[in-house]
Amino acid sequence: MAPAGFKVIVAGGGPVGLTAAISLSKANIDFIVLERNASAVIDAGSNLVLSPMSLRALYQCGLEEDLKRVTSPLGDLTRTDHSGHDIGKLDIFNHIKHNHGESLRVVSRHDLTHVLYSNLPVDAQSKILTNKKVSRVETNDTGVIVECDDGTSYDGTFVIGADGAHSTVRQLMREIAVASGSDKINAKQPFLTTYRGLWVRFPRLHLEPGVTNETHGVGASTQLFCGEQSTVVSVYLPLEKPTRDRIRHTAEDKEAIISQWGHLPLTPDGKVTLKDAYEMRLEAGLVSLEEGVVEYWSLDGKVVLVGDAAHKFTPSTGMGCNMGMVDVVVLANEVRKAMRSSSHVYPTPAELEVAFESFKNIRYDVVVSGCKQSGTATAASTWASSISQLVDCHIAPFSFVQKYFMDRSAQQVAQTPVFDYIPSQEVMHGAVPWNKSMPDSKA
Ligand SMILES: Cc1cc2nc3c(=O)[nH]c(=O)nc-3n(C[C@H](O)[C@H](O)[C@H](O)COP(=O)(O)OP(=O)(O)OC[C@H]3O[C@@H](n4cnc5c(N)ncnc54)[C@H](O)[C@@H]3O)c2cc1C
Repeated sequence: MAPAGFKVIVAGGGPVGLTAAISLSKANIDFIVLERNASAVIDAGSNLVLSPMSLRALYQCGLEEDLKRVTSPLGDLTRTDHSGHDIGKLDIFNHIKHNHGESLRVVSRHDLTHVLYSNLPVDAQSKILTNKKVSRVETNDTGVIVECDDGTSYDGTFVIGADGAHSTVRQLMREIAVASGSDKINAKQPFLTTYRGLWVRFPRLHLEPGVTNETHGVGASTQLFCGEQSTVVSVYLPLEKPTRDRIRHTAEDKEAIISQWGHLPLTPDGKVTLKDAYEMRLEAGLVSLEEGVVEYWSLDGKVVLVGDAAHKFTPSTGMGCNMGMVDVVVLANEVRKAMRSSSHVYPTPAELEVAFESFKNIRYDVVVSGCKQSGTATAASTWASSISQLVDCHIAPFSFVQKYFMDRSAQQVAQTPVFDYIPSQEVMHGAVPWNKSMPDSKA
């Protein structure tokens, strides 16, 4: 058990904040999560694809059975152009399964957050405080005071900003850095938006769970994932000009997209168009697809950023949430190391800052490369240039090309860490061995 007085405040109870709650609970570190919504489990947002890099850590935490119940493995990825002509299927999901012993699995945000929340012990669930919008962070000699817009405030040793792409914690961290004369000052608007994304959730129809289809072409691409209960399509649309400003999207913007692109075929048989899906929609959203990696992820051992607050990808390669969950694994390992090596009752802010820096150093290059890959995939699918179109239609379909790239990426995925302190059996056995084995109960 961590010493009394050591308490972590997690701002944001999305998938990454809830993973942080699980990791802290398993480490016996006291914490609270402050979530601005009325519940951390909400029926909103696009479906998410979980990859072996995060599934392995989630299975390590004992979530395998529950996750398998609400997720479907992805099979072939079929692809057509805007007129419904086949441009070659990709076998990448089968390569991933072969290399890592687990498929990519599609899940709704509701089911994912429900599994994360319900796997917390009851006393830890009571630490997820809802209707708590973080509005201010003050640092002092011993840690932080986090204030919410309902007037409540909470003392902690440090705060984890898991509050998404428009992170208030990141913005407050910047203000503290400016006021204190620190040279670790992040850009005000660290992310660049080149694409908008319309996502539409509609009934599963005749599609089998796990069906994946993409429609590529100049000016728009679609990506459809069929889950257990519903199907979600994301539509990627380049902006006329990239911007760092926050864009407000309206209902009229959605309608305009449907009038322009409603004819696009979405399913492998071409029978369902974007307009059909929109008319049957259970839910839809239009969002900016910001991209970028924040320069500074922590301040003075008192504030640290994870997930979309620290890095934002286009969703084309389905990596944003996965990367955020792996951030939590590395951060938890580094904080525990600092707790063990400190000669004080618990680590000083200076010792914590060393742990936070080490966390960022472990994650930074992987995250930067993931961000680039996602942007490249979005550009390729919207045929941003004649070269992207050529590669997309005439090079990517070759199976030896896919195998080459998937085997290369498998080497990187195999480096993904797991929690140092959660004993578990390995359940993912693939052709590429994991760099770090699961800790056994003696660890
Ligand atoms: C269309 C689409 C499809 C995607 N598909 C995939 C995919 O297949 N795979 C994948 O890995 N990723 C995917 N992503 C990305 C993924 O959704 C994000 O990377 C992931 O949700 C990030 O999780 P997070 O917890 O860091 O942030 P968020 O999900 O944004 O959660 C932040 C949480 O913080 C709360 N919050 C915000 N501000 C405050 C505040 N001031 N005080 C308290 N609480 C606050 C919010 O209410 C929210 O609950 C997709 C994204 C989009 C848009």
